[in-house]
Amino acid sequence: MTSTGAPGTGPVRTLWIAETFAGTIQGEGPSAGTPAMFIRTSGCNLECRPWCDTPYTWDRARFDLPAERTRRSVAELAAWAAGRPEPLAVLTGGEPLMQQRALIPLARALAGMGKRVEIETNGTYAPAAELTGLCVHFNVSPKLANACMPPSRAIRPDALAAFAAAPNRVFKFVVCDPSDLSQVDALVTAYGLTGVWVMPEGTTPGKVINGMRDLVPAVARRGYRISPRLHVLMWGDERGR
Ligand code: SF4
Repeated sequence: MTSTGAPGTGPVRTLWIAETFAGTIQGEGPSAGTPAMFIRTSGCNLECRPWCDTPYTWDRARFDLPAERTRRSVAELAAWAAGRPEPLAVLTGGEPLMQQRALIPLARALAGMGKRVEIETNGTYAPAAELTGLCVHFNVSPKLANACMPPSRAIRPDALAAFAAAPNRVFKFVVCDPSDLSQVDALVTAYGLTGVWVMPEGTTPGKVINGMRDLVPAVARRGYRISPRLHVLMWGDERGR
């Protein structure tokens, strides 16, 4: 796949897409419960092997990636979104900012039709000024040790600092245990992060509910917020929800 997250010139008008779906809600973060449509890009620069819930966007060992993705134009995706009633368009992945040059005209088209636009990112690609200038909202999810990758791969200081300084962003951390919060604390201190949400790992309703319950005391002490995973509570790990 051609990575368009890196700096470059000229418009890019097509993206690798894993799936689009609608008629659902945003399940996580500050907009949880809002009726939403999703555009999921294909490709990711990280490998959160223990718990990634969209491995079909990147894991060549387990999935036939050419069969899992299609090349779609910005115009085609915008036309699909324009016919939908949901007020929120979520651009997710995979890692959508790998295709940032094409994401900019897509986000512009969605915002132009009155949609609120959220971009879900792992925080390893700094957002371009054209994107932050569109008033899109970023849900930035830096990965902790529970993703089983070296910190030097999962945390890109320049990108994280850029998001910390950007408007309209929150940070959302996946935690497997309340003890993971010490790593969140360290990143909050190092980068001056504000707007911190934590979310239990899990793809079953029971695991998510128990995880949220376990997090309450430690989160309350720190002033963070807990994000649900409403789609998991309603549909488990069903794809396209
Ligand atoms: S960054 Fe997201 S899409 Fe990529 S491997 Fe990790 S959880 Fe999966």
